[in-house]
Amino acid sequence: METDMTEIRRKLGVFPAFHKVEGRRVVVIGGGAEAAAKVRLLSETKAEIVVYAASLDKETGADVVAAHADWRGAWPGVADLAGAALVFAATGDEDMDRAIWSLAHEAGVPVNIVDRPELCDFYTPSIVNRAPLAVAVGSEGVAPVLSRHVRARIEALLAPAFGDLAGLADRLRDRVSRALPSGAQRRRFWAGFFSGPVAEKVFAGDMGAAEGEAVRMLEIGPNLSGHVSLVGAGPGAEDLLTLRAQRALQEADVIVYDRLVPDAILAQGRRDARRIYVGKAPGNHAISQDAINALLVDEARHGNRVVRLKSGDPLVFGRAGEEMAALRAANVSFDVVPGITAAFAAAAENEIPLTFRDTASAIVFATGHDADGETLPGWAGLAVSGATVAVYMGHAAAAKVSARLIEAGLAAATPVAVVENASRHDRRAYAGRLDELARIAARPELSGPVLIIIGEVVAAGAIGVEPGALAELAA
Ligand code: SAH
Repeated sequence: METDMTEIRRKLGVFPAFHKVEGRRVVVIGGGAEAAAKVRLLSETKAEIVVYAASLDKETGADVVAAHADWRGAWPGVADLAGAALVFAATGDEDMDRAIWSLAHEAGVPVNIVDRPELCDFYTPSIVNRAPLAVAVGSEGVAPVLSRHVRARIEALLAPAFGDLAGLADRLRDRVSRALPSGAQRRRFWAGFFSGPVAEKVFAGDMGAAEGEAVRMLEIGPNLSGHVSLVGAGPGAEDLLTLRAQRALQEADVIVYDRLVPDAILAQGRRDARRIYVGKAPGNHAISQDAINALLVDEARHGNRVVRLKSGDPLVFGRAGEEMAALRAANVSFDVVPGITAAFAAAAENEIPLTFRDTASAIVFATGHDADGETLPGWAGLAVSGATVAVYMGHAAAAKVSARLIEAGLAAATPVAVVENASRHDRRAYAGRLDELARIAARPELSGPVLIIIGEVVAAGAIGVEPGALAELAA
């Protein structure tokens, strides 16, 4: 017989719902690890947890105590289950599980027998808890590992403060209903509430200001002035973006971005956000810094929420100083969202400790540009005194960097690392001596952004510097 698979796939065998447990009894039967997992999960709720088990293993005992659960050493009867909101059983014994199932049904309480889907009236979801906001992920008991995986991704998407935001909405609900009788008005209010300055203040941890802003919005309507966030996109890997950066992207009306910002990160903005490229291809200064400053001011003045997206950290070689000065001068509100700078990504993936007791007690973020002239760069002395130096934009100037540092007195054998495309799938890293830096940097395959790390600490990393030899990491 032909079966219409699409039809089957589209219909759920369960109805997801949120079961009220506050102040009600939830019974867990069993004393092992499975029962303990349910106790931990339930301890995220306001349920009164009662555990029935002849004995508890040590960890379960600890969970029971931590959850303020009640432990009964006896086997429950129908009367013990009657009136409970839910029953979970994980006795590990099939006959006992079946007996519990019968008892629970006699008591008229929905029951979940762990790992026996055929004995479950309901399934236990993976939960993202941002009380009172909750996300429950389930797979009808079929793929719990997948549910946990999805849960982890949602967990990363929802900053912890979403719970505070939902709590504030709950407190204001009656007041909003009274002030805004029409449904359309209320929807507009809540849309502004959850994405505008109220949410921003909650995420900044200032509940008082958030509430003040919400009340102001109720009284005089939403604040339509724009805002600029200078946001660090990190070194390239999508999952090195901070949660705050991700949220700013999702709220932006306009995203103004640079050359090194990867598409995958840009794609995290809203689909209908305007994206404006202001990057400078090497040697081709498409748009001047003054024009970028003016663009940011102009977009904000039109009431837009603007994200100025820069690779790495926005305050490290990102010309954020000029942009902040322009925004300040124009009286445009702005904030800065830090990002993982290239040096941190390059060090992390090559296991280079940027500081090391007795060897390197300072880190210098330097630009290779200033090594290009005839004079020593300002940071040469720091390198000589033992600081670890991370050189940005130093690819073209690598020969000069090495010559100047040796001239300033740094040993020719000082270890160096050349890291290309840090944190990206096409990353490469090479290590060698300072007097080999020009040769390493001249390798023809290096076409992406390159960060140079100079200092004894490179030898403690994973690139494996052989004195005098050029060690190469796999591409
Ligand atoms: N604000 C950025 C730096 C911008 S300057 C940050 O904090 O990382 C641009 C320089 O950064 C490049 O010339 C290169 O030296 C370095 N860079 C940026 N991304 C990099 C990456 N993924 N791998 C190696 N170097 C990188």
